[in-house]
Amino acid sequence: MTDVLRETALYIDGRWVPGGGSDLEVLDPATEEVTGVVTQASTDDVEAAVAAARAAFPAWAATPVPERAAVLRRVRDVVVERADVFAATVTRELGAPPKVARALHVDTPVAVIDATIDALERFAFTSEIGNSVVRREPVGVVAAITPWNLPLHQVVVKVVPALAAGATVVLKPAGLTPLAAFELARAFDDAGLPPGVFNLVSGSGRTVGDLLTRHPGVDQVSFTGSTPVGRQIAGVAAETLKRVTLELGGKSASVVLADADDELLATAVKITVANCFLNSGQTCTALSRLVVPADRLERVEELAAAAAAKYAPGTRLGPLVSAEQRKEVESYLDPASGGASAVTVFGGAALPERGWYVSPTVISRVEPDSRLAQEEVFGPVLAVLAATSDDEAVAIANNSIYGLGGAVWGADGEAALAVAARLQTGQVDVNGAAFNPGAPFGGYKQSGTGREIGEHGIADVCEIKAVQR
Ligand code: NAP
Ligand code: MG
Repeated sequence: MTDVLRETALYIDGRWVPGGGSDLEVLDPATEEVTGVVTQASTDDVEAAVAAARAAFPAWAATPVPERAAVLRRVRDVVVERADVFAATVTRELGAPPKVARALHVDTPVAVIDATIDALERFAFTSEIGNSVVRREPVGVVAAITPWNLPLHQVVVKVVPALAAGATVVLKPAGLTPLAAFELARAFDDAGLPPGVFNLVSGSGRTVGDLLTRHPGVDQVSFTGSTPVGRQIAGVAAETLKRVTLELGGKSASVVLADADDELLATAVKITVANCFLNSGQTCTALSRLVVPADRLERVEELAAAAAAKYAPGTRLGPLVSAEQRKEVESYLDPASGGASAVTVFGGAALPERGWYVSPTVISRVEPDSRLAQEEVFGPVLAVLAATSDDEAVAIANNSIYGLGGAVWGADGEAALAVAARLQTGQVDVNGAAFNPGAPFGGYKQSGTGREIGEHGIADVCEIKAVQR
């Protein structure tokens, strides 16, 4: 790709204004070449964005629900109309193969917008307890700080429920992938969102992100990204006692129960590999640990190797986002990362000459306390672990500082649901059930606090007031 996309203005108070910070180059991970240049915010721009969001808040909060829903429906229609542009933008900045760009990066956030509108129209902004009317009121100004792995989706899951609730937003997208956020700002503008309700300030986390986290005019910080930065943000936000929503890392387990027959086992392995390698392994809910009955391990290794072989780097498997990220991921490709017993059952696929690719990799006989079993890789690396009983499988799955996603596979549906109930994690898919764009999304333990998406995403940006009468 030789053309360079230039975003020369921030979106503040319903106007496009040149940023006072330095320009930032965006690299295409598939070509390693500059593919975009974006303007960045100065301290004054951040101040202006927060002031605009504050000023817009009372009127937006007072806007009747059907009107807020109507604006969001127009936003949705504009995103759908420009789906090709959004998909191409994500391909440009993340290197996502076109099919993945469309299905994961555009169709999924569109489904989330639909589910959010649906939730808004049913949301109980008031309820009663005895002589009290309990009101849910939007918190005020929400600062959304988002990561690079899903440049549109991660923004949509924060911003759309906040706007639905009646909050106003200042968004700081990831420096590695800011382009989709600019496209979304155009969609908000074209959909007729009132000035100041949504504001976009690009810039680094250490400057713009930190300013927003400290700002007394921001009522809530909603952050998605790494656990260390999440911890830091929670600490800084504590100084002003801001509300904080954190969506952090994961090391999600896919647990195959002993009663799974051969067909279910094959499905479980295939879907787990696909889920783990989705977006080149760069998803926070990646099923990156496959826990299987010890007496089926050899069969699982064959199946996983065959499934992994289908993810050719450069066609079905995209690159990692950056050279730095590739270096991180490469440190897990040596089976020693999985402990002394670990073996590679698939790896070393041919890589394109350019681009930050790694081979899809499956490492088996991984020890539960090893680095590979414990640390989030954020790349296409699957760890297979053996369990001698279903109880042991549950213990292995819960042996993690994280608790974001998970899966259970079993012939007896009720028993599988009972295992799902024992997993310490925010989401569990039983027997390959579909992603639900209206279901609460968030983590147990060090995967974060708060919930996004749908009714729970709206509630997450609301204060609660009890009025006695
Ligand atoms: P990150 O460093 O946590 O950054 C996420 C966002 O926070 C970015 O917009 C970043 O800005 C900003 N930020 C960084 N430092 C900040 C600070 N002190 N105050 C306020 N904002 C700050 O995550 P990353 O670099 O994108 O990815 C690193 C690792 O995070 C990955 O390897 C992966 O393990 C994990 N991750 C998790 C998820 C998830 O969904 N759970 C998603 C992506 C990544 P800039 O980067 O623009 O400076
Ligand atoms: Mg970072």
